Amino acid sequence: MSDCLFCAVVRGDIPADVVLRTDRILAFRDIDPKAPVHVLVIPIDHHPDVPAAALADPALGADLLQAAAEVAAAEGVVDSGYRLVANTGSDGGQTVHHAHLHVLGGRGLTWPPG
Ligand code: 5GP
Ligand code: ZN
Repeated sequence: MSDCLFCAVVRGDIPADVVLRTDRILAFRDIDPKAPVHVLVIPIDHHPDVPAAALADPALGADLLQAAAEVAAAEGVVDSGYRLVANTGSDGGQTVHHAHLHVLGGRGLTWPPG
């Protein structure tokens, strides 16, 4: 989508600190990190949110989770633990409407979220 921020990242029109790229997935550091490790894992193809991506293409849902696990390993947070977040829709606090998983780690994370 031409007016989508993360599609612009995929195209390279907006620079990003990329940590993983496959033919289906891109992972890059969040511009405003909420934890020492904060990486966004997105599908190359535009989907409005993670559940919509998984419904449209179940294998893509699995690809997103697999990539998130690979990012967590590469970032060294598997043993300490981390959180995967898929903010979805208005009440979910989603601000960018291109599917993305947040990989958050490197510190103790509080629960429940605000
Ligand atoms: P959401 O609030 O939709 O779950 O998450 C969107 C995330 O995208 C936010 O954590 C925000 O900091 C991040 N973000 C917004 N614009 C940019 C950008 O231009 N580059 C990067 N790397 N992250 C961005
Ligand atoms: Zn998009």
